[in-house]
Amino acid sequence: MARYTDALCRLCRREGEKLFVKGNRCYTEKCAVERRKYAPGQHGQNRGKLSDYGVQLREKQKVRRIYGVMEKQFRMYFHKASRMKGITGEILLQFLERRLDNAAYRMGFASNRREARQLVKHGHFSVNGVKTDIPSYLLKPGDILEIREASKDLKAVRDSLEVAEHKGFPEWVEVDSVNVKGKFVRIPSREEIQLPVQEQLIVELYSK
Ligand code: SF4
Repeated sequence: MARYTDALCRLCRREGEKLFVKGNRCYTEKCAVERRKYAPGQHGQNRGKLSDYGVQLREKQKVRRIYGVMEKQFRMYFHKASRMKGITGEILLQFLERRLDNAAYRMGFASNRREARQLVKHGHFSVNGVKTDIPSYLLKPGDILEIREASKDLKAVRDSLEVAEHKGFPEWVEVDSVNVKGKFVRIPSREEIQLPVQEQLIVELYSK
């Protein structure tokens, strides 16, 4: 599958805000958004006012970039969400939160979602005891995510866990740092997800 391979900080600069794509670096003064508060590229400093469509499009791109999901899959989540009972925008975000790579990040096994995806793809995780290497695998409440025995002492994982323990874990996961395993307790509510996004704009964009 095609992946974005350009500089990650450009993504944040394009959206004009921190998307925390790089993990720990995002919390330092090295953050590119802190240093250059304008969009990348030749016309980055002269961008005019966005149309309504432009605002909706940027919001969608922002969420896609935060979770590292390609357009086709993101649209698929939207279509699934729109067919379900409830608030479409909230269900869309809940799908993204249930992804295995995201859950691994939320449990602190990686310092960012991209790193988590890499770990998943390299086969370092099991779900309910079964090796699972599909980043888009959707967890259900009660699922147990665990680093496989041979990978338990990976330095990157231990370092990430240490930082995550310091920051604290989201309430919808339980983490056993000693055994490097976690439980996806429940699907988070919109308020708990705490993302600075207006998902309603995405619903409006795709509903045109
Ligand atoms: Fe975005 Fe992090 Fe780069 Fe800052 S350091 S621009 S938040 S990816």
